[in-house]
Amino acid sequence: SCSAKPEKTKAQQASNIKKVIAIMSGKGGVGKSSVTSMLAVSLMRKGYKVGILDADITGPSIPKIFGLKGKANINETGVVPAESQHGIKVMSLNLMVPNEDDPVIWRGSIITQLVQQFWADVIWGELDYLLIDLPPGTGDVPITVMQSLPVSGVVIVTSPQQLAGMIVRKAINMVKKYDAPIFGLIENMAYVSCPHCEDRIEIFGKPQGETEAANNEIPYLGQLPIDPVLATMSDLGKIEDYEAEKFTEIAQRLADIIKT
Ligand code: ADP
Repeated sequence: SCSAKPEKTKAQQASNIKKVIAIMSGKGGVGKSSVTSMLAVSLMRKGYKVGILDADITGPSIPKIFGLKGKANINETGVVPAESQHGIKVMSLNLMVPNEDDPVIWRGSIITQLVQQFWADVIWGELDYLLIDLPPGTGDVPITVMQSLPVSGVVIVTSPQQLAGMIVRKAINMVKKYDAPIFGLIENMAYVSCPHCEDRIEIFGKPQGETEAANNEIPYLGQLPIDPVLATMSDLGKIEDYEAEKFTEIAQRLADIIKT
């Protein structure tokens, strides 16, 4: 019957996709989408097959970061995701709307249904990692993803401006209500390297990520500097050309944690 079909699809997806990682942040603007994209790039460079499900429906930025404009293709078997220059599969609402500047003015229930379809109806194929870029906070979409998708674990992205860790703890406590483990915390925009002497300038004060991770008994994956090159490459849609040793280290740590 018709009603059995989505379940079948869901099971098939689960067997094709080895690990589903949800990327979460307490609030917007901490660099969650940038970190998701660079994690994907770093894992791809290690030879893994990677996909990104852009679940930040009202603020989708993944297609732009990868310079993807082409529309996602719909055929009789489902939705074919877009593919980045180096083969990262991407599904985002912005690949389906006629004009990427049009706002999404949908109720939460429609948005959460769409996220479930991005899981069930997209032909992801074989993947080692599917990264889900969640919208910031602990609203409808993160809850739906945690409840209805086979999330292997969560990565939390934070930046030092987050109010003394309180917002991060909200996100951590939200995840703890579900079965998925927290793979770790990444602290973005932790400092700036002086272009002249390479001194660290901690413009938001002393980074608290490591302490925060320890206090919450979750792994600390590392910190990333503010790098104007990253922002520029993202704006140009050329994230795959960005060289980033720091991201490589973090991605390796993450891959190691997931394996164990
Ligand atoms: P979020 O997904 O948390 O809302 P984004 O990834 O969209 O945040 O990042 C917000 C802005 O900050 C973007 O313009 C992005 O290019 C920039 N940005 C993020 N991380 C860094 C970084 N480490 N260095 C420089 N710019 C960054």
